[in-house]
Amino acid sequence: MCLVDSSTSIDIASGELGATEYYCNECKSKFKAFGKKIRCPGCMSTNVKKL
Ligand SMILES: [Zn+2]
Repeated sequence: MCLVDSSTSIDIASGELGATEYYCNECKSKFKAFGKKIRCPGCMSTNVKKL
């Protein structure tokens, strides 16, 4: 049920609260997003990875 992630510690230094940086494998761009279903804002691809 619960996703256990060792990196769930509070990270205040990362600026926007709750936003995570992602890298798009399609158009090779970085962007910030939050939520579960991450899409690249540039090409709408879901082929992204968390940075
Ligand atoms: Zn993209």
